[in-house]
Amino acid sequence: MARITLDSIRKRYGETMAVDGVSLTVDDGEIVGVLGPSGCGKTTTLRTVAGFETPTAGTVAFDGREVTNVPPEDRNVGLVFQEYALFDNMTVRENVAFGLKMRGIEKTARDERADELLDLLDIGAMADRDPTTLSGGQQQRVGLARALAIEPNVLLLDEPMTGLDAKLKARLREEVGELLSDLDVTGLYVTHDQEEAMLMCDRIAVMKGGRIEQVGTPREIYESPATEFVSEFVALDAPDLPFVRW
Ligand code: ADP
Repeated sequence: MARITLDSIRKRYGETMAVDGVSLTVDDGEIVGVLGPSGCGKTTTLRTVAGFETPTAGTVAFDGREVTNVPPEDRNVGLVFQEYALFDNMTVRENVAFGLKMRGIEKTARDERADELLDLLDIGAMADRDPTTLSGGQQQRVGLARALAIEPNVLLLDEPMTGLDAKLKARLREEVGELLSDLDVTGLYVTHDQEEAMLMCDRIAVMKGGRIEQVGTPREIYESPATEFVSEFVALDAPDLPFVRW
């Protein structure tokens, strides 16, 4: 997958500076969390990487190649959004194969690829099911398989655990965290949940008011917060969490 470089990104909506000078590099095979309270510019940053937003200033590059003005369909990004519902008029396999179909890959090859990913995510037995009959966690894995099927340059996840119950979330954090690590995925992981960021990400960028307050490993952020805001924001209720990616 590709290294992502954001250089001095600004995005203004009228009077609002949603993103105010964000520079960040995500190395090949690294998952960087974008963490912060509601309205701090996380989603706008992610949408800029996806190509749904053109920054007011600054550049986005994949592997050093500038893509700032490349349309989303030509960036080869995999997207996992909480609200990114699965198509309920298609089977699970068809959902996963959808992006490949759009690229003109013939049916046998795309079904093979879909089945491979479904097996990898341990939901191979669900391939012929209607996605609405799956649990929230299983649907989330289908979403992840669908995003990975196109062999994306980068994977962008926006609050992918929102809406799942706490028990399932805890299990998936670990499972998906390991999976992203095993697959050597390069990605940005947007969340407002500090525990989730700590468990799933190699590094975390903490945002406030459109700016990055601190970038560091979960341990650095937790043990040496650069500002009072970071310190307060990452204060955990359960400091004995198993920090799986440390
Ligand atoms: P977050 O994802 O951290 O909740 P957002 O990136 O969604 O934050 O939003 C950052 C700021 O930009 C907020 O003040 C939000 O209201 C504003 N904003 C986001 N998108 C738009 C838009 N399309 N038009 C106007 N303002 C927007």
